[in-house]
Amino acid sequence: CGIVGYVGDQLPSARPLEVVLEGLRRLEYRGYDSAGVALVAPGSELATAKKAGKLVNLVDELDARPLPAATAAIGHTRWATHGGPTDANAHPHVSGDVAIIHNGIVENFALLKAELVADGVTFASETDTEVVAHLVARAYDASKDLTDALTQVARRLEGTFTLLAVHAALPDTVVGARHDSPLVVGLGEGENFLGSDVSAFIASTREALELGQDQVVTITPTSVSVTGFDGEPAQARRFTVDWDAKA
Ligand code: GLU
Repeated sequence: CGIVGYVGDQLPSARPLEVVLEGLRRLEYRGYDSAGVALVAPGSELATAKKAGKLVNLVDELDARPLPAATAAIGHTRWATHGGPTDANAHPHVSGDVAIIHNGIVENFALLKAELVADGVTFASETDTEVVAHLVARAYDASKDLTDALTQVARRLEGTFTLLAVHAALPDTVVGARHDSPLVVGLGEGENFLGSDVSAFIASTREALELGQDQVVTITPTSVSVTGFDGEPAQARRFTVDWDAKA
């Protein structure tokens, strides 16, 4: 339902988690039933936390079980469509070194899941989204390129989606893709942001890019690269957020 992504060039710090929690708080108006985060730091495994219920449940969990400092983060508030509002069904969904968050519905998930199960993959949730995590992890293992992996998988999905992906081996990268669901980029100095709407990063920047239909975006602390589902370079619309954000 609500999506936030962040990558910055500082040493691992608390900022990625803070930015993502602040973004999720500003996206709360959309309604949701669960929330979760995944953090990436150099030389570390993925760190995740997710909880059914209000954001305060996730914050309590993070107080009880603090996550390590990070350089990149993704965060999600979920409005369940497939699988009830449980901790296990909350996003991110993890497969190996890949974590995924998703807004929307993967209409052909049953077919994709059957294919993965037949191949020996075990599922940890009842969501439509989890197939994406397994497919991206497999595509990454083949290509060693997260942008290419998410692009390949996006081409196979039917339905509506905004997807963000991180990989444990890429502490300076977040990749996003969209089809019939919004995704905007926030442009910072030595840091960049992704959001399902500009509320996700309005506390940090008003300079933004609106991704077009069937586009993939790869952000690092100092670069934003946009491609189409065909893998070719593409243009996103630049704009400045001109409304006043409340604290
Ligand atoms: N269909 C996904 C799920 O049920 C994502 C729902 C959402 O947009 O939050 O987990």
